[in-house]
Amino acid sequence: MSQIFYSPDDNTNTIDYQSIIEEIYKEVFPLTNSGKVADYIPELGKIDPSQLGIAIVTLDGKIYETGASRINFSIQSISKVFTLTLAMKFMQNTLWEKVGKEPSGNPFNSLVQLEYESGKPRNPFINAGAITIADCVNTHSENALDTIIQLMRNLSQNLSINFDPQVAQSEKEHGHRNAALAHFMKSFGQIDSSVDELLDIYYKHCSISMNCLDLAKAFSFLANHGINPETNETFLTKSQAKRINSLMLTCGMYDASGEFAYRVGIPGKSGVGGGITAIIPNLLSICVWSPGLDKYGNSLAGTMALELFTTKTGISIF
Ligand code: GLU
Repeated sequence: MSQIFYSPDDNTNTIDYQSIIEEIYKEVFPLTNSGKVADYIPELGKIDPSQLGIAIVTLDGKIYETGASRINFSIQSISKVFTLTLAMKFMQNTLWEKVGKEPSGNPFNSLVQLEYESGKPRNPFINAGAITIADCVNTHSENALDTIIQLMRNLSQNLSINFDPQVAQSEKEHGHRNAALAHFMKSFGQIDSSVDELLDIYYKHCSISMNCLDLAKAFSFLANHGINPETNETFLTKSQAKRINSLMLTCGMYDASGEFAYRVGIPGKSGVGGGITAIIPNLLSICVWSPGLDKYGNSLAGTMALELFTTKTGISIF
């Protein structure tokens, strides 16, 4: 029997998700102008910050949406959950020889820790870790980018998903830190692909464009022990899905993962495009998007929306 997270007398069947997200939308929308869009990638700096979208997909197939939930945005670091899914599938436990599992305590694009730790990144979600994961996907597939995009189309059941070439180009032109990270790791013999090929894959998977509904659907398998509830297809083992959720809880929000766990209490992954996608095991996945970021690089209004969601519904993983 599959493990039940909530006791049979819980109230999750009676929660009016639609009213709750509409209420949250009204409360949080004024915050959309308090954050700062990620202008270190100039193409992302052009996005109008006064937008907020929320989508929920429950494991029994119900969808709840409000605001800009169908507007495509740059998913950025949220894509790292999908590359990690592929790397875990391809490499199982040998993956952890290449990348660690600890929060970094440093900004997502920091170089300093890599020097002390001989080029082994702290976790798969900081940029150095994600570049290493892209290397693992590249060495285990014919066409890494295509493999990543196919996975995301399959998980979200949306065949139109693709990367945005203008965002990818903008990242490439301004990606001096990522290039430095990749060259530094290469100098330690930490990565196998050529640096240029690897960065091209990394920028393109970060610049994949999706909306809140696509992402909520694409994360459903993580709320359901590795199985897509819509298609019944198995993507990861139960144990692997647990491990990705654990890593999201401890490392998914950059250097503010502790604060997010404290305020929100569910595993999730953010991206500098302003998206945050999170899951509640055995129940639902939720994606919020608002492009204005806090000083750690997480959506300011999005974090507040998720905090209000777990507070108003009374559900979290704790
Ligand atoms: N492509 C972005 C970068 O490399 C990803 C950052 C993010 O969303 O954390 O800086």
